[in-house]
Amino acid sequence: MVCPVSIIESTDTTIHFEVRSESRPDIIHDVYFDVENGYYCGCEQYHFRKVECKHMRLVKEYMNQLNTLMQTGQTFEEIRYK
Ligand SMILES: [Zn+2]
Repeated sequence: MVCPVSIIESTDTTIHFEVRSESRPDIIHDVYFDVENGYYCGCEQYHFRKVECKHMRLVKEYMNQLNTLMQTGQTFEEIRYK
């Protein structure tokens, strides 16, 4: 399985992610993390309901995996298939 999340750009205070839609691979959602305001997603679900959407969950999961990688020195594949 290909990871649907990629980091596009990061600065000291923000990270810009792209999350590829699982059902429509031609659609990409932009998710931002800002140290002051937290997560933001450009999708309609988040825009209208202001609740955590699937894309944010994927980004959080991705960040957790990155954290684990840095702490344990494992690879993505090793974590993903446990
Ligand atoms: Zn979203």
